[in-house]
Amino acid sequence: MPFAIAIDGPVGAGKSTISDQVAERLHILHMDTGAMYRAVGLSCLRAGVDINDEAAVTKHLQDGKAEVCVRYADSLQHTLLNGEDVSTAIRTQEAGTAASAVSRYQAVRHAMVALQRDFAKGQSVLLDGRDIGTVVLPHADVKIFLTSSDAIRAERRQKQLAEKGEFRSFEEILAEVRARDLQDETRAIDPLRKADDAVIVDSTELTIEETVDAILSIVHQRTAGKA
Ligand code: C5P
Repeated sequence: MPFAIAIDGPVGAGKSTISDQVAERLHILHMDTGAMYRAVGLSCLRAGVDINDEAAVTKHLQDGKAEVCVRYADSLQHTLLNGEDVSTAIRTQEAGTAASAVSRYQAVRHAMVALQRDFAKGQSVLLDGRDIGTVVLPHADVKIFLTSSDAIRAERRQKQLAEKGEFRSFEEILAEVRARDLQDETRAIDPLRKADDAVIVDSTELTIEETVDAILSIVHQRTAGKA
């Protein structure tokens, strides 16, 4: 029987890394839904579309100028924008900020949620994002709300960016993390919030391995033999 796992949480909580490892241990596919919003954001940046202009972003999408799709090679997600693999290009801070801006809009959410639900049909999956347990898969078998302190999230983000050659101050990144939290939590449509039936996993004091193990034990309890 296919089962679905929803992992939501704020920026920098380690959702992608941890979701990748949980999915690998369970031999199921992991969809990083943030990557899809990043692809739409990147498309707007490249086309010079004002990310704060809802009508312009909606038109860009409806004109078919930001066709997003997700493919897998060896269980690894590749995010495609108009057929181009943008998996690396979407990982900049600018693409993240653009994603946060365009993901406020109904047309963008509508299109991405449809793709995500489609992906979850008929197979066991793990989706991570902001609204998976509340909107995309409200009937998911397991819902996790993964979080950690904003300082730790900023520190991890700083390290991640440094590994890619982007050197930024801690204070600047902390301010961005807080701004993104605020935008994600206060937007009108599908804001980031914990689903009532989600289990909170706070990774502030946990290593990646400990966090993965904590989630796997919740998955095993909740799926009672399915996983
Ligand atoms: O997870 P990531 O930081 O890559 O997501 C980028 C942005 O996309 C988030 O800040 C959020 O605004 C948006 N997003 C969303 N819904 C999701 C996943 C991401 O609105 N399911």
